Amino acid sequence: MTDPECLFCKIAEKRIPASIVYEDADLVAFKDIFPKAPVHLVLVPRTHLASLEALTPATAPLVARMALAAAQLARELGIAESGYRFLSNCGPDAGQTVAHLHFHLMGGAPLGEKIP
Ligand code: 5GP
Ligand code: ZN
Repeated sequence: MTDPECLFCKIAEKRIPASIVYEDADLVAFKDIFPKAPVHLVLVPRTHLASLEALTPATAPLVARMALAAAQLARELGIAESGYRFLSNCGPDAGQTVAHLHFHLMGGAPLGEKIP
């Protein structure tokens, strides 16, 4: 279920600190340590999945849960109307740097045409 060596498993289990803004039984959302927008959160499932490539029909509902949590957080943080980006980098060509499935929630300023 979790990988003891994985950075985001450690954050979800509070074995290393992070600014957690939302958590429930299945998900954790925390502030990105190197924010690329005024609001930049990372949403992760508590269960260890390396990326979207590891998703199965059994774990796919976690993605919908993360999308719903992101939309709710966007409303709470006041960026729902101005707009935001919700994305997951999968694999080397996308620049994925942490091998635990995660989605970025970014907003609070125009994000430009290119995905950062
Ligand atoms: P990726 O590049 O894999 O799509 O996203 C990984 C994200 O995790 C990056 O935006 C990076 O800044 C963030 N990150 C990496 N290490 C840490 C950390 O120790 N704490 C937090 N809060 N974010 C991290
Ligand atoms: Zn993990």
